[in-house]
Amino acid sequence: MINHLITQKNWQTQLSEAITSIDELLELLKLESLRSEVYIPEHFVLRVPRGFVAKMTVGDVDDPLLKQVLPNKKEQIAVTGYVADPLSENTHNPVKGLLHKYQSRVLLTITGACAVHCRYCFRQHFDYSANMPTADAKEHIINYISAHPEINEVILSGGDPLNVTNRRLFSWLDTLEAIPQLTTIRLHTRLPLVIPARLDEALLDRLSQSRCQIVMVIHCNHANEIDALTAEYLQRTRAAGVTLLNQAVLLKGINDSVTVQTALSQRLFAAGVLPYYLHVLDKVDGAAHFDSDERAAIQLYWALLAALPGYLVPKLVRELPNKPFKVPIDIYNES
Ligand code: SF4
Repeated sequence: MINHLITQKNWQTQLSEAITSIDELLELLKLESLRSEVYIPEHFVLRVPRGFVAKMTVGDVDDPLLKQVLPNKKEQIAVTGYVADPLSENTHNPVKGLLHKYQSRVLLTITGACAVHCRYCFRQHFDYSANMPTADAKEHIINYISAHPEINEVILSGGDPLNVTNRRLFSWLDTLEAIPQLTTIRLHTRLPLVIPARLDEALLDRLSQSRCQIVMVIHCNHANEIDALTAEYLQRTRAAGVTLLNQAVLLKGINDSVTVQTALSQRLFAAGVLPYYLHVLDKVDGAAHFDSDERAAIQLYWALLAALPGYLVPKLVRELPNKPFKVPIDIYNES
């Protein structure tokens, strides 16, 4: 019932009513016992929409969705090898807001804001203020893309590109669609999982009319993130002609088992989404406790190959600084 009431609200209201108080979250979930394990971060504070909290199990200290958002004191432990900018993204910015790391694709950041703060996020220390497009950015971006005919796809990433208003998003789509060489626009977003109502009629209508192929990569890490309502919104999105893919992060204690990964792939498929990538964790400062041993990841992967049809097995990859592609993990390397 509570979930029903929350999800009746429009997405902007749900966004503005996200929980930012750890006390409130623990109280809602009847998990006051966790108080000694949490801390209040100065930056990258708790942020979680109420609809996502409604997908968590009251009283479960190990809830896989809660663990993704609850600031844990383990984040404060500095671990060698885990750094602020694990992918050296600050070194590939030809124009503010634009990242050109992959040959035929550029990544465009149109906002630094997200609806949810995921504790494992590799961009949690990223200085968005210094890297956002400036007022005259559109012209520079058009010029840059036009000068690089090998670029045929623009990836809108984040922050979360669906965190901006339809008006602002549509204006970017208009700009990009007017660049003749572009064939594909890709949106990387977690909003459909935390506030499914973000996939509103106006958005789906606009995406269905694009002259470009629209690909939406949702970032779902656990089957519990897709309840019936979320699945319904995803199916509507697919019906609007959008290709839906998923990219997950392998997170210790959250989704690092065959059972959980199998359930995730099956739930995604039932909602019209194909598993695309399973990333091992980017070694960002504060997230070491989520990292899985690479050997365990490989063993998990072999088990997934046996358990699932090939089209439901995501590619197991690692992102490395200065590599112009996601690097497949060598699953024959069991050393
Ligand atoms: S939604 Fe994506 S970019 Fe935003 S905090 Fe989560 S992982 Fe990071």
